[in-house]
Amino acid sequence: MQQQKWQTLLQKSVKSPSTLLEDLGIEGIALSEMANRTFPFRVAEGFSRRIEKGNPDDPLLRQILPLSDEDQDYPAYSRDPLAEHASQPVPGLLHKYKGRVLVIVTGACAIHCRYCFRRHFPYAESNAANNNWAPVMQYLEKDTTVSEVILSGGDPLTVSDDRLSGLIKLVAEIPHIKRLRIHSRVPVVLPERITDTLLRSLTGTRLQPVMVLHVNHANELDATTALVLKKMIRHGIPLLNQSVLLKGINDSVDTLAALSEKLFEFGVIPYYLHMLDPVKGVSHYQVEESRAIQIMQQLHEMLPGYLIPRLVREIAGAASKISVG
Ligand SMILES: *Cc1c(COP(=O)(O)O)cnc(C)c1O
Ligand code: SF4
Repeated sequence: MQQQKWQTLLQKSVKSPSTLLEDLGIEGIALSEMANRTFPFRVAEGFSRRIEKGNPDDPLLRQILPLSDEDQDYPAYSRDPLAEHASQPVPGLLHKYKGRVLVIVTGACAIHCRYCFRRHFPYAESNAANNNWAPVMQYLEKDTTVSEVILSGGDPLTVSDDRLSGLIKLVAEIPHIKRLRIHSRVPVVLPERITDTLLRSLTGTRLQPVMVLHVNHANELDATTALVLKKMIRHGIPLLNQSVLLKGINDSVDTLAALSEKLFEFGVIPYYLHMLDPVKGVSHYQVEESRAIQIMQQLHEMLPGYLIPRLVREIAGAASKISVG
């Protein structure tokens, strides 16, 4: 089959941090070769083109650079802080909360976010091998308490149309599943991926679709994203957003208020603001809990309630995300 435009763009993503820094005219940032080997740098052009030239502190740039800070090893930061490895009844399916399951569709992403809590996730052994969804579907058929399937990863929208629509059709065959949720950064990072074919697969079954985006800063949203987000909404896909609270990137009330305002302008409702998960190599992004609570209080004074995300933390073994403050 002919390669689609978005697939070519995905392959062309910048894979070297020094090339990107050179293009941006930025010098003197200490990068870690080791970090870049264990979790390689990657960014699609849809995201990198929104980075400000010559600004070493750009909030988008800071999300993707493998800094030498990552080499610092703290005992509190582990490879699997959420014990996800233990919550997989079958490979590729995480079932932690009542009524909903999370399916790891792929390990691939259009961007590698350095703070990612799945950066050490053993995708190779926790993936439905070779498109074999039978064990996942058997599990879902048996558990009639599950009404929502979340497609996650990695990023589920990096897989081909055929693979994705095949999976969605299988899920739609299970009568007690009502909702199909997509967790994706692709509409923002690789907007070209939101094709009519994709929209047809997301909305073409009896399942009610809903998409949770992942945007951390208002600069990630521009006119191109506005178009694809509005298009998804016109197709009946409600859009929510989750962010991670990140030191030096969005840990200020003004930044978060601007993000909420812009999301809403584009039709997206703020959903969660996550405290950073203590995964190995991310300690330089950590915001103190007291500071996070203070920011949220100020946010409440500035914005209407529907523009305020819920500040949450994930705790291994808990029955839901836990509200903070
Ligand atoms: C976060 C998460 C969900 C979704 O939780 P909601 O509160 O419904 O958004 C589901 N399953 C797993 C394993 C998760 O980590
Ligand atoms: S897109 Fe999501 S899964 Fe992929 S690296 Fe970023 S946070 Fe992690």
